[in-house]
Amino acid sequence: MTVSEVRRELTDRFRSSGVESPEVNAEWLLASLLNCSRTELPLRLDETIPDSQLEHLNSQAARRAKREPLQHILGTACFCGLEFQVTPAVLVPRPETEELIELAFETAKTMPCPVIYDFGTGSGCIAVSLAKRLAKAKVIASDISDEALRLAKANAEQHEVIKRVEFRRADGSALAAGEQVQLIVSNPPYIPTSEIAALEPEVRDYEPRLALDGGRDGLEFYRMLARLGQVALTPGGSLIAEFGDGQEDEIESIFRKATWPNIRFAKDLCGKPRIVIASTGQ
Ligand code: GLN
Repeated sequence: MTVSEVRRELTDRFRSSGVESPEVNAEWLLASLLNCSRTELPLRLDETIPDSQLEHLNSQAARRAKREPLQHILGTACFCGLEFQVTPAVLVPRPETEELIELAFETAKTMPCPVIYDFGTGSGCIAVSLAKRLAKAKVIASDISDEALRLAKANAEQHEVIKRVEFRRADGSALAAGEQVQLIVSNPPYIPTSEIAALEPEVRDYEPRLALDGGRDGLEFYRMLARLGQVALTPGGSLIAEFGDGQEDEIESIFRKATWPNIRFAKDLCGKPRIVIASTGQ
C-alpha cells in the first residue's frame, strides 16, 4: 500500500472510533514510521510501505482506535520545542502548560540565581523546560510517584539539565521546614473526582488518576499551594499554577483567604482563564 492509501485508511478508522483530528493522528503515525516530519509527508505520498512495516503500523493504529493516547504509542510528546519521554505513569504534557512556562520565564529571567519549586512534576516537562531556558536557575521537582520521578530524571538527563534539577519524592510539599524558593510552579491535578468518569477515553482510561484527581471539588492542591507559598516563598516571590475550566473564581477566593496581596490570571490560547499568578509582598 502507498502512504496515501494508508493515510486514508487510518483516517477512516480513527474517525469511526471517535478519535479527534483523525487525519492528523494518521499522519503522526505515518511520519513516525517513515522517520520524517509531518510536513514532509505530502512529498512521500506515492511511496510504497513494505508489508513488514504495515504490520507494525496496524498494531499501533489498533491501539489508537481503542483511544490510547498517541503520545503513549509513540512514547514521546513535544513540549516547548523539546521532546519528552512519556509513559502511562505520567500526564501527557499539554500545550496549555506551555503558557505557564512563558509566564514563569518572564517572572524569573531577571532573578540572578532563582530557585524554583515544581510541585507534581510528572514527566518533568515544566522543571526541565524552565531549567533549559533559565541557565542560572536551580529547580526542585517533586512527585508522589516513583515511576514519574524516574521518567522525569531521564528527561532531565536527555536535555542535559540533570545537574540543576533536584528530584524529591513527596506526598505534598517536598520543601524542608524553613526552606525558601523564589518561584513555585505547578500544574496540579484539578479535576473534581466525580467528573473523572465523564472525561474522554484517552484521559480517563489511560492517564494516571493521581495526575488528574484534584479531590471532591478539584481544588485540594490550590489550598495546599496557597498555604505553602505563604511560608516557602522569599519576599516578592511568585506562585504560578495552572487550573481547569471555570475554576477562576474559586481559586481567587482561596488565594484571597490565604491573604495573598497580588493575584492575577492569564488566559490560554482559547481565551479561557487557565493560570493563576500570585505574588507575596516585598
Ligand atoms: N507537571 C506535569 C505536567 O504539567 C504533570 C502534571 C500532573 O501530573 N498533574 O505535565
